[in-house]
Amino acid sequence: MRFEFATAARIVFAPGASKQLPEIARGFGSRALVVTGRNSARAAPTVEPLEQAGVAYQLFPVDGEPTVPLVREGARAARGNCDLVIGFGGGSAIDAAKAISALATNSGEPLDYLEIIGDARPLENLPLPFIAVPTAAGTGAEVTRNAVLGSPEHKVKASLRSPFMLAKVALIDPDLTMDLPPQVTVNTGLDALTQVIEPYVCTRANSFTDGFCWEGMKRIAASLTRVVRNGHDRAARESMSFASLLGGLALANAGLGVVHGFAAPLGGMLGAAHGALCAAVLPHGMAVNVRALRERVADGETLARYRQVARTLMANAQADAEDCARYLNELCHQLSVPSLSTYGLKPEQIPELVDKASKTSSMKSNPIQLTPEELTEIAERAL
Ligand SMILES: [Zn+2]
Repeated sequence: MRFEFATAARIVFAPGASKQLPEIARGFGSRALVVTGRNSARAAPTVEPLEQAGVAYQLFPVDGEPTVPLVREGARAARGNCDLVIGFGGGSAIDAAKAISALATNSGEPLDYLEIIGDARPLENLPLPFIAVPTAAGTGAEVTRNAVLGSPEHKVKASLRSPFMLAKVALIDPDLTMDLPPQVTVNTGLDALTQVIEPYVCTRANSFTDGFCWEGMKRIAASLTRVVRNGHDRAARESMSFASLLGGLALANAGLGVVHGFAAPLGGMLGAAHGALCAAVLPHGMAVNVRALRERVADGETLARYRQVARTLMANAQADAEDCARYLNELCHQLSVPSLSTYGLKPEQIPELVDKASKTSSMKSNPIQLTPEELTEIAERAL
């Protein structure tokens, strides 16, 4: 057995837990940069009490997924003025806050530290303390050590990654997800589902993270359609927030696979939401992975894992590996998941997409090395 496990220094999970933010923040500093989604008014009930607790704050709203210029600006705002960064929002706000806390204490340009398109230099100084308060149930970014940043200049997304970037506190309050619109609920929920399947079948799957994946799969299978139908189903929202956290724990300590391998360059090329892109690729990535394993791998251990995924998701002890993709196809159909052409992908962009996808870090832990033809097939099927 071989594994390594690192996560946020403290995880607080409870309905209503966001009320603890002032008390928790006070332990780390007195001047906070609060990074929020586009509409920072949503954060008001949670962050306004900071002042009474003696923590002055400055709001920094983020419109869409974070980019290199945006985190450069955020780091400039935080440098010298703040001793603490709070990320309140979906994966975009959390990742932006994570990157800003790291860049505020490290000189130079974001590109000096970025993977793939930059120099991937290790951070020289510890980031500002960072507290993550997720308001969506999908990315698990509250417990991951990387921030995904878009570079408009390179038309690609790349990660800023460091074990020092793990949150001091992940403060998870499922009640904050109650008002998420159905489309965001679908996208983030299917991202969460992908993030408990891919680490379970990937080459770095391990006994430590397997349990998180199982529990996450069971909870999402039972709750996703419920929260889409009724956003105020409190028990189902709680399950989705928990499953999202489990996915974050699993992916940060095992790995991902072909679906995220595609989602990264697609995000850079199309600018659509990460969860929507994962959802569009998920059934096809699974189907081709299972077929390739049947054709080329004799021992069947990973196929047995896919069989387990199918049985867990479908609550059917007779299900086989192939049923996994069938189930996901039906689920995406039922949730009206749009295909990639909806976001503007053109058939002539597929070769570029396949080339970029094959170079991602997620693809390296895919359970089987897929050929360029197989990757093309996935992209064509998802189109
Ligand atoms: Zn994801």
